[in-house]
Amino acid sequence: MEKVIIIRYSELHLKGKNRGWFERAFAVNMEKSLKGIRHEIHRHSGRYLVENFSESDTEIILDRLKKVFGIHSYSVALKVGADMQKIFEAAKQVCFSEGSFKVETHRADKNFKLNSMQISAEIGGRLLDEISTIKVDVHNPDFIINIDIRENSTALVFNEFFKGAGGMPVGTSGKGLLLISGGIDSPVAGHMIAKRGMNIDCIHFHSYPYTNLQAREKVIELAKQLSTYTCGTTMHIVSVTEIQEQIHKNCSGDYMVTLLRRFMMRIAESIALKCGAQCLITGESLAQVASQTVEGMTSSNSVIKTLPVLRPLCGFDKDEIIERSRAIGTYRTSIEPYEDCCTVFLPKHPVTRPKLSDVLEEEAKLDVQALIDRAISTLETINL
Ligand code: ATP
Ligand code: MG
Repeated sequence: MEKVIIIRYSELHLKGKNRGWFERAFAVNMEKSLKGIRHEIHRHSGRYLVENFSESDTEIILDRLKKVFGIHSYSVALKVGADMQKIFEAAKQVCFSEGSFKVETHRADKNFKLNSMQISAEIGGRLLDEISTIKVDVHNPDFIINIDIRENSTALVFNEFFKGAGGMPVGTSGKGLLLISGGIDSPVAGHMIAKRGMNIDCIHFHSYPYTNLQAREKVIELAKQLSTYTCGTTMHIVSVTEIQEQIHKNCSGDYMVTLLRRFMMRIAESIALKCGAQCLITGESLAQVASQTVEGMTSSNSVIKTLPVLRPLCGFDKDEIIERSRAIGTYRTSIEPYEDCCTVFLPKHPVTRPKLSDVLEEEAKLDVQALIDRAISTLETINL
């Protein structure tokens, strides 16, 4: 009797020649997520089976697979030879000690000597004889014992379906560049887009020495946490210290955040195009803070030349974002109290609804291209 994990994926969008490509990306991601753990993954009639792992690794394998997008549901099963006595032994193992139950059988091997109904009836009857504290309820059972007779003379026996991460395999929707700060929102935004199948690179702007090295470590840690969902990520780190100093020195202080955003977007687009990313992703949420207005977005979008900017959190309330942040495991790191560059030189009265003509007037006081070039020359790239 061997413990195995059955992986099911959603087939809704699998049409024609897409299927092979989708399945390959999915299998590669599962392999990457289980790197370093002994196992084998086999595909079988529209599902995958993780086998040949040490039983003591079961929990860690499940923890990793829970983060693989594209998994619709999974079950931990016992694999036995397709023989009624062995199936019964396995059914006994997965049977709860009390409550109502039914047996459901799926028979892929049509040569098996009994049909599905007969198998369910016989195994159910034998369980009832053996365990006096359970009873049959075919309409509303407390638990279901599932028996899957496979074509290769084996049977899988299991009692539960767990919900997987859902979504699409990472890599099947291209690549995006996430503007990641140290806050709660941007990792959640990255996670949402990765769930739709997008590979994510990260870019972070710091203003060392105004922001400290712990702030940088915190953001690297957040990117690492996000990368457990994306099978790795590349982190680009750029200094905007000089840009902030120049804005502070030359422009009306109220425009600090608005102008800085425009620099971030320009630099991000330039790096996105170099690393093959097809869009930018931010953690902005409409009206969450003074700078996240539609006018603010107009101002930062207007410097972008070609790429779309995805803002998946636009329609979320802060508490909804926090809930997601907790669920994906980034919340604790996000709330560590280190400063982001946006809080350096923060004006008392930042403009909340910047008029583009005023923004352009302020920005004209700077040598924009030279500042961008020098900022990009500070680029550091780390593979996580
Ligand atoms: P977050 O929780 O993601 O920090 P926030 O609510 O603090 O978001 P802002 O500080 O206004 O919002 O930032 C809005 C978005 O701009 C962030 O979600 C992120 O995508 C981007 N951003 C802000 N600061 C940085 C930074 N230092 N490096 C990279 N991107 C940043
Ligand atoms: Mg922030």
